[in-house]
Amino acid sequence: MNVFEGKTIYPGTAIGRASISSFVKCKQTDDSQDAYTQKERYFKAKENVKNDLVSICATDFDSEVYDILKSYILILEDEEFDSLVLNIIKVEKTSAECAVKKASEHFASMLKKSGDAYIKGRVSDVYDLSDRIRETLKEISGAKEASVKTDDSVKEAVILVSEYMSVTEIIKRGKENIAGLISTKNTLHSHASIVARSLGIPAIIVSELKDIFLLSGKRILIDGFEGKIYIDPSEEIVSEKKREKEVYAHSADGITVYANVTSARDVEDAIKFGAEGIGLFRTEMFFLENDYFPTEEEQFEIYKTSAINAAGKELVLRTIDLGDDKTPAYLNLKDKELRGIKLCLSMPEIFKTQLKALLRASVFGNISIMFPMISSMDEVEEVKRFLEEVKAELKTKNIAFNEAIKLGAMIETPEAVVIADALAKEFDFFSVGSNDLTQYALGVNRLNSEEEKNYNQKDPKVLSLIKATVEAAHNAKITVGICGELASDISFMSNLKEIGFDYISVSIPVLEKIKCK
Ligand code: PEP
Ligand code: MG
Repeated sequence: MNVFEGKTIYPGTAIGRASISSFVKCKQTDDSQDAYTQKERYFKAKENVKNDLVSICATDFDSEVYDILKSYILILEDEEFDSLVLNIIKVEKTSAECAVKKASEHFASMLKKSGDAYIKGRVSDVYDLSDRIRETLKEISGAKEASVKTDDSVKEAVILVSEYMSVTEIIKRGKENIAGLISTKNTLHSHASIVARSLGIPAIIVSELKDIFLLSGKRILIDGFEGKIYIDPSEEIVSEKKREKEVYAHSADGITVYANVTSARDVEDAIKFGAEGIGLFRTEMFFLENDYFPTEEEQFEIYKTSAINAAGKELVLRTIDLGDDKTPAYLNLKDKELRGIKLCLSMPEIFKTQLKALLRASVFGNISIMFPMISSMDEVEEVKRFLEEVKAELKTKNIAFNEAIKLGAMIETPEAVVIADALAKEFDFFSVGSNDLTQYALGVNRLNSEEEKNYNQKDPKVLSLIKATVEAAHNAKITVGICGELASDISFMSNLKEIGFDYISVSIPVLEKIKCK
């Protein structure tokens, strides 16, 4: 058994026999090298590939895959590429196949030089199209050789191994015939990677693999959670991974799973991995990355993109929870004790700027606003006053926002649990922050490693506060979720369901495990 580490494109486990993509090798053909004939062959092949893509586009794919296929069609319409191919045919007197290969290598080498990761990611698209055109040229010539050899001896879904994964190959083979994907040269953001994620196929980049042809027909296990592949895996490893998969698969049965995120990109990933909503967007992370308070416009763009990425699902954006270990250098804290909502209320302009950005973004999706560390009714009153001020300002400026936007309170201090009944009358939902609730309920500093042994989110005292919160929420007929680390404890999920949570909000790695089978 050989084990290699790689970068996960899409998580999940998969086992199957390796099938290698092998493409037409460039060789001088016996075909006439007459430039006119080669030119005609090139245009005919290109037209066939284009028609093929147009008909694939008519199939029912999600919009991302559709956009990728459309971008392929645009590359095919690129006149610069045509003139490069025609020039090579004319000057070097080569076959159309060779000219296409050389032209694509020239294009790819230009793209590889770019410092921009997105442009570099297009290299595999160029190779993919070049392979398609050359395959079609062979077909036009009546050659029997297929450019993509499928391993016919392998009838079950295969682990498709390639240097550059091909969008068209993945789509043509079909999800049901591909258990997993391994590439040696793809980038995480290439179109083929996007398609793999979109179709939910476990996929991994393993640059260490040198001679992929030696893998043909071998049994391979992909563990996308750990970012590893096992070649000829032992039976022990196979059973261990199957067992893990079983545990993961049923751990969240019957409970709605949301995700915790820190960026618009995370929102996109979480939805792809099967999150039913976003239960906690820690907006302060963007404030911590910057060396100044992000402007309203900068915040608006992030919240708007996140709302769009959430694709209609609920997106709970928590207002900044700064202070304590999350204090950016530019935040000149007079009172070191302030954190969460107390700190926000002490900086009205900063707080109102964030509320404005959040409200403006609310028309682009299903946004809710949640407030951290709420501990008194006075704070609630102040929060609502600021919110009303901001709404009034937007109205006078004729700026659209969702008037009925839902508001939530994080329940993460024992004080909040004590007043939970009153809070439940003021909010549309609660979300239990078990990380802080544990430290305040047990008097244990969550940041102090010495005290770690006494920090237990499943301590009966913490659990009784949690149960009281759920009861208060349900008595008032509002929803209640949990977004602290306790929600991400796979072995505790059925207990959270029993306690009565309407949803749990988990970290992305845990979401992958329980949702990406
Ligand atoms: C929590 O306290 O449980 C929580 C989710 O908030 P944070 O970890 O960001 O303090
Ligand atoms: Mg907290």
